[in-house]
Amino acid sequence: MHRIKQLIKGNEKFRSLYFPYFEKDLKRSVDIGQKPEVLFIGCSDSRVTPDLMLDTKPGDMFILRNVGNFIPPFKADNDFHGSAAAIEYAVSVLEVKDIIVCGHSHCGACKSLYDDIPNDTSLVHVKKWLELGERAKEFTLKTITDPNNKEELYRQTERNSILYQVENLFSYPAVKERIDNKTLKIHGWYYTIETGTIEYYDLEEKKFKPLKELI
Ligand SMILES: [Zn+2]
Repeated sequence: MHRIKQLIKGNEKFRSLYFPYFEKDLKRSVDIGQKPEVLFIGCSDSRVTPDLMLDTKPGDMFILRNVGNFIPPFKADNDFHGSAAAIEYAVSVLEVKDIIVCGHSHCGACKSLYDDIPNDTSLVHVKKWLELGERAKEFTLKTITDPNNKEELYRQTERNSILYQVENLFSYPAVKERIDNKTLKIHGWYYTIETGTIEYYDLEEKKFKPLKELI
């Protein structure tokens, strides 16, 4: 109960301290709807805090978080595709202008790619989901100089995965169409949780660089 009490206190603090700043905009948005211009795709990791680390306000970003910030390729079948639905909604209904795929350091999902996940019903969805990181793992193992250096192995896998997830985004016809007509941009970001810094992937130099260099 202690933890839930903490959250209740947190909501009281939010209502008295922060909510007044957003109240007008939030009430207006109830009439006109949300108009976020950014779709942020990040990991469910509790240390990844999109609104806090980017100092954004309610209404600024449509946020999709899942295990590993993985993007399943477009697959229009009868199954329940939560991540795909969020992407479609953001791109085709909200018409966001930017999509940020943000990986992070010390990602449990990326590390798990190197572990044996048991064939257990309690992890059946996790095991399947982690297949979305396989290509990043294979590429990292092929290109890394010292695979025994775990720190380097995991950090590179996390970064490489971002590029493969971005590639999967292109498999969505609506995404591809809007990129082709230049109404949508995709960004690959990497958040280091122990420093709070973010890097972006520079397409020309083919490497991650400090985000602040973009200003
Ligand atoms: Zn993660």
